[in-house]
Amino acid sequence: MPTELPAVALVDLDAVAHNVGVVRSRVAPAAVMAVVKADAYGHGLVPVARAALAGGASWLGVAHVHEALALRDAGIDADVLAWILTPGTDLLPAVEAGVDLSVAATWSLEAVVAAARAGGRRARVHLEVDTGMSRGGSSPSEWPALLDAVAKHVDAGDVEVRGTWAHFASADVPADPSVPAQLEAFEAALATAHEHGVDPGLRHHANSAAAFFVPQARYDLVRAGLAVYGLSPAPDLASGAELGLVPAMTLAARLAHVRRVPAGAGVSYGLTYTVPADTTLGLVPLGYGDGVPRHASWDGERSGEVLVAGARRRIAGRVCMDQVVVDLGDEAALPGDPAVVFGPGGDGEATADDWAQAAGTISWEVVTRIGARVPRRHTGTAGVPQPPEVPA
Ligand SMILES: *Cc1c(COP(=O)(O)O)cnc(C)c1O
Repeated sequence: MPTELPAVALVDLDAVAHNVGVVRSRVAPAAVMAVVKADAYGHGLVPVARAALAGGASWLGVAHVHEALALRDAGIDADVLAWILTPGTDLLPAVEAGVDLSVAATWSLEAVVAAARAGGRRARVHLEVDTGMSRGGSSPSEWPALLDAVAKHVDAGDVEVRGTWAHFASADVPADPSVPAQLEAFEAALATAHEHGVDPGLRHHANSAAAFFVPQARYDLVRAGLAVYGLSPAPDLASGAELGLVPAMTLAARLAHVRRVPAGAGVSYGLTYTVPADTTLGLVPLGYGDGVPRHASWDGERSGEVLVAGARRRIAGRVCMDQVVVDLGDEAALPGDPAVVFGPGGDGEATADDWAQAAGTISWEVVTRIGARVPRRHTGTAGVPQPPEVPA
């Protein structure tokens, strides 16, 4: 890691491209939409989007319109879908930038149509239908009316339907009865679209878990998020390594302080950790202000673990806002020594999955919440514009 930084999130763009390739070969002939919402799950929106496209993604997916426009501002002209619309958002820039917008209700359809008319061009929409998760999407009861309104606006030249989609509640448990039930509901919704004269366009229902574990859900396109970042969407079924994925993010720091304390010393807020014997403590300059989960504090039995001097060290006591203390035993560590919070795991460091377990959460949250205070440093060359070769 760079010596001038106290802490850094290293993001391997070659791993991103590799992971997209893994998903792609798994789901072919379906295409891959790389989901890059929330700053690419904390990995850095624009470099990751470029790497994902270099790795074979043909679509990019984001939640918000402003995320899609950030991609366009960076000069990325690939197909991009934004799926959360809220009343009041100016949709004209999105329509003019050729961003695909998801529509799940007549109010959002009308908002998109108004923007299309203002811009003098057809808006590209994907229709979202709820197949059982009860989150976004048109209810089955409202679907026919939405389709009639869509058909009218297609005929009028206001919109073009490029896709029809839904989202799984439990694709990480492929044997759950909700999985086939959602697919059945999706088939019914597609049939209803045809009956109402609407060509559904690209059909997409799968997230990362379904892309790997529910082959019938792949349709024309899969929306892969977590897998792009190299993490398993169903760690109970298969590890990332077993799926051929390579974790892209390594969170590392340098010890800011090292000291000996005597047996019996209490450590960090609340003194919830008492050192069993004389020991060396190391200070890692990352805390919950950087996204290190406070729930991964020492709880009397376990904690998140940080790799220092070749071994994983437990967190001594509570995670603070800017720092955690690790118990180094009799290790002769020095300020400036590297401390790896999580990474691919190849050097013995914990993975984002390990941290998710220690904090009682999921790896999606662990990587996505790494805070803005932690600089991202991108390594690898996938998607990085190369300088022209200088003739010898
Ligand atoms: C976040 C998201 C995805 C990606 O999910 P993963 O489990 O990370 O693959 C796909 N589709 C929608 C609608 C999402 O919100």
